[in-house]
Amino acid sequence: MLNLYGFTKKQLEEKMISLNQKPFRATQMFEWIYKKNVLSFDEMTNMGNDNVKLIKEIFTLDHLKIQKEQISQDGTRKYLFKLDDDNCIETVLMNYEYGQSVCISTQVGCNMGCAFCASGMHKKIRNLEVYEMVLQVLMVQEQLQNEEDENKRRISHVVIMGIGEPFDNYDNVMNFIQIINDPKGLEIGARHITLSTCGIVPKILEFAHFPLQINLAISLHFPTDELRNKYMPINRRYPLDVLLSSIKSYYKETSRRITFEYILLDQINDSITCAKQLIELIKGINCYVNLIPMNESNGLFKRSSRSKIFFDYLHQNNINCTLRREQGHDIDAACGQLRIKEMQKK
Ligand code: SAH
Repeated sequence: MLNLYGFTKKQLEEKMISLNQKPFRATQMFEWIYKKNVLSFDEMTNMGNDNVKLIKEIFTLDHLKIQKEQISQDGTRKYLFKLDDDNCIETVLMNYEYGQSVCISTQVGCNMGCAFCASGMHKKIRNLEVYEMVLQVLMVQEQLQNEEDENKRRISHVVIMGIGEPFDNYDNVMNFIQIINDPKGLEIGARHITLSTCGIVPKILEFAHFPLQINLAISLHFPTDELRNKYMPINRRYPLDVLLSSIKSYYKETSRRITFEYILLDQINDSITCAKQLIELIKGINCYVNLIPMNESNGLFKRSSRSKIFFDYLHQNNINCTLRREQGHDIDAACGQLRIKEMQKK
């Protein structure tokens, strides 16, 4: 059986044609599952009984299992989903003034091995399938249907920043983006979707040609090769000059401003010297720097006590930057933390 949530509209049209069905059935099915939120094929009343019967033999609308839901005082929610093979993944909902944002996982585990990151403590078991990513968004939205405020019932933003490296699961992630962006699908605007990568250069170059205007964030975190090599193994493969030049090509192609993420780690990358090196490194790039307070997950690293000084220094030097506001501190909402706790229990 094929999970319907794994198909882009184009793929579904092709599938319909191969089944001797009219391609417009694909649009109808999209509208039923993403606009009218039906959970069974029998509710698809405009498709004809015989067609529904055929479709039911081929596709499922199976969902993931919600293993755990945690709701924080600030409205942040964290979900642990159980997959068919019993692996677990995490998804986080964040509530902002501008809308409801979901942070999705792209892999079970991660192979990038960043020293400060909880997700990487467990190696990649497998890539997520397209439907497993789509269902993270759809199922969190389903959980919001009882919200009093109608505006809170819809997911308006998606960040691809959960467990896993999205560019290590490139094709599935691109199909996922097309499905959630489709006007007949969840219709989440491209500018409301952000993908974060640790810096897999060939994929950054490929992504520059992806037809949708998705926001790209780079987990930079360190301003020199010496530091970055030490804490982010990917840098030994694609050092800073190579990474930065791929970002310049990306900008040339897309004219889209890039975001640099920078976790402030106590006594490691939070000095004024580091701030100066960072400014020098990104000079001339149309970018935005997102300073992230460290989520203390493994005891080896501490949150910086100098984040405000670092922020002010960048600001004074005309760098567009923000010091990220934190949410969900009380529910282990940093990537990978909940999953690890759950695994440790076993
Ligand atoms: N693999 C991708 C996306 C997942 S990580 C990437 O590396 O960008 C999403 C973001 O959370 C990255 O910027 C990552 O470096 C950051 N992150 C990892 N561990 C963290 C921690 N303990 N505290 C705060 N941010 C963390």
